[in-house]
Amino acid sequence: MTSTLFADVRVFDGTGRDPFPAQVLVEGDRITAVADRVAADLRTGARVIDGAGRTLLPGLVDAHAHLGFGSTVEHLSRRRDEPDEERALLVAHAGRVLLDHGITSAYSGGNRLPRTETAARKAFAEGWLPGPRLKAASWEGSAGMVEPGVYDFPGVDGRASDPGSVARFVTDMAELGVDIVKLSLSGESAVVRGTSRIVQFTDEEVAAAAHAAEKHGVWLTAHAHAAESVKTAVRHGVRAVYHCTFADEEALDLLGAARDRLFVAPTPGIVHANLHEAGGEPEPGMEVEATRDAVRAVVPELVARGVRVVPGGDYGFAWNPVGRNLRDLELFVDWFGFTPAQALRAATEYGGQVMGMGDELGLIREGFLADLVLVDGDPLDDVRILQDPRRLTVIMKDGRLHKAAG
Ligand SMILES: [Zn+2]
Repeated sequence: MTSTLFADVRVFDGTGRDPFPAQVLVEGDRITAVADRVAADLRTGARVIDGAGRTLLPGLVDAHAHLGFGSTVEHLSRRRDEPDEERALLVAHAGRVLLDHGITSAYSGGNRLPRTETAARKAFAEGWLPGPRLKAASWEGSAGMVEPGVYDFPGVDGRASDPGSVARFVTDMAELGVDIVKLSLSGESAVVRGTSRIVQFTDEEVAAAAHAAEKHGVWLTAHAHAAESVKTAVRHGVRAVYHCTFADEEALDLLGAARDRLFVAPTPGIVHANLHEAGGEPEPGMEVEATRDAVRAVVPELVARGVRVVPGGDYGFAWNPVGRNLRDLELFVDWFGFTPAQALRAATEYGGQVMGMGDELGLIREGFLADLVLVDGDPLDDVRILQDPRRLTVIMKDGRLHKAAG
């Protein structure tokens, strides 16, 4: 069994407590010792990485990743019509880029071709393609269950409620082997102007989705900007609620009451990119500034209610590519008032919990999976340094070194 000793590191263990000097021993895929000095008999034969006082973090987790949307920092594309084979390769490529940027786990926020994610999940887990541990998602089901990749947000008025086809969608996706089924419970003004505040599924449809998800053992994720869409998500047990932008007092309280069973990913990254990097002035109906202002007000309210707010900013588009993911941590600090330690805890301890693996992932602790990132510099002083991959001198997933600079 391969073993690795990280010597002379400053450990940020993921809980948010202050970093402490230690040695960390990894055997196989697990962390087996965290100590001032690991006993000589345990470290015999271990490859030694001299941390030179650098900071060791648990591998970082993105809770709203889009491996299949076509763009990474190395490959920008606005195409939406690539052949399936090319899309599959793009997912594999995005997995490597995520890992290069310290993202060792990704909870997918939806895919254009779900089987590519289930295939990538397997390849990454088996280690023959570099990529994060992955929870694979369905394509994004939207109102009236229009085709995959077609975003039309007609709302619920003027169409018949159709719980049967929503349940069938969840069942079909579960049969493809996804972990997560995504429903766009509200519209999205950045895509179809003026639709973010419009509910897209009836209560009866979401109830049917929840019933099917329970039956088939998959998680539900909701895209939900509108207050009523957030409430519907919480009432029906949706596990990850994205955006929550226009949550009102009632929605906030419902999220707070359900804090032990759900996560919120407010996705500041895409909002920032829509404002500053999409090219040209945002059109009024995109509600970009309103979205930013609302989400900045909502997140501190959620934190005050004890909700686990997690990073993951919809990276995958040409103006918000995969690889930029850790910008969310900077925005958690700048927009939401997190300390760097709180932002890092959200990306590590809560990240492990989002992945459904909170008892073995997300902390530097004996017995936990060895997903580790060694950082040149102090991310607790300036969390932005994590966005520079040259600062991530060692990246390990599952006890295997993906990168070891020098
Ligand atoms: Zn998304």
